[in-house]
Amino acid sequence: MSTTSASTTPDCPHSPPCPAACAPDSGAARSIRPCPEQGWSLLCNGLVHFADTGGVRPDGTVVEPIRRIHDHQTMGAAA
Ligand SMILES: [Zn+2]
Repeated sequence: MSTTSASTTPDCPHSPPCPAACAPDSGAARSIRPCPEQGWSLLCNGLVHFADTGGVRPDGTVVEPIRRIHDHQTMGAAA
């Protein structure tokens, strides 16, 4: 047996396995602990996924949010 696959997700019970936390599409993993009221959810690959599509990996690195091209800039919050 070979263990050359580096994209395994240790805590992922799904088949086929979800993207690893280090994968570009890590946010596509399934939520195992959703906290919609706080705007984030814990994914089965260990990623903390935020509502703005960004996230934080188990090793502490940040996943940049996906920027929408047609994003309505209507925020008038005082800086
Ligand atoms: Zn999974």
